[in-house]
Amino acid sequence: MPTETPTPVGDAPAAEAISVTHTYVGYGLKVKALDGASLSIARGEVVAVVGPSGSGKSTLLFLLGGLDQPEEGTVRVAGTAWGSLNGDERARFRRVNCGFVVQGTALLPQATAAENVEVPLLLDSVDPAERARRVVEALDRVGLAGEGAKLPDQLSGGQQQRVAIARALVSRPTLVLADEPTGNLDSATGQAVTRLLVEAAAEGGAAIVIVTHDPKVAAHADRIVEMHSGHLNSAANIGATTSSPSTGAAR
Ligand code: ADP
Ligand code: MG
Repeated sequence: MPTETPTPVGDAPAAEAISVTHTYVGYGLKVKALDGASLSIARGEVVAVVGPSGSGKSTLLFLLGGLDQPEEGTVRVAGTAWGSLNGDERARFRRVNCGFVVQGTALLPQATAAENVEVPLLLDSVDPAERARRVVEALDRVGLAGEGAKLPDQLSGGQQQRVAIARALVSRPTLVLADEPTGNLDSATGQAVTRLLVEAAAEGGAAIVIVTHDPKVAAHADRIVEMHSGHLNSAANIGATTSSPSTGAAR
């Protein structure tokens, strides 16, 4: 259970959302997308978030990644509350601590696989030799060691998603946020990409929150939580007891 007790930053969970609410206002209508959502993600833990469309899953990921601010409640990554950072600090903290994987990859079409992976490091002026080393490491980790010079459209859909995973991991983040990352892939490719995401993140010690509709994707997680009407149903925390055998072997 999340608590309000301060935890030393070094021992803090990878991420915590504590009693978070978030309301969208548009066309005079208010939509309460999150309504008291709480979730704590341990270091290196893989959590799958499932639930009906519109239940607030993407909003939860946005808030965990500090891309939006909660109306009420607290969101922390590695012990730091997003609300304690100003705009520039937030952007920098996000690049260092959070990796994002989205449906449809969002790769730059004119840039090679290696250049796409390098992007998060360019913004933080990591020196060129270190950048090159980390790009090679990240591409290697996703099984694309020899493919760095290719453009996205010279790669298959599954390979493109692997480039996006390498980009999410290149800064060695604490937390990877994946919103339906296999939504554009066929089932077999989606499975392979998920396995790779989980293994590659585990090598770097990153925790993952993966939103998915696919029970086969969710089965790769250490814990599955279900969202309903803006909160997480802890009764549905079916966790370690039903997680896949492959997860246990890998971790
Ligand atoms: P999910 O990812 O589970 O499908 P979302 O987090 O995207 O759910 O959305 C939760 C609720 O918030 C839905 O009712 C959705 O219509 C609403 N919503 C999401 N984004 C916006 C937005 N930018 N403006 C207004 N309403 C939104
Ligand atoms: Mg969504």
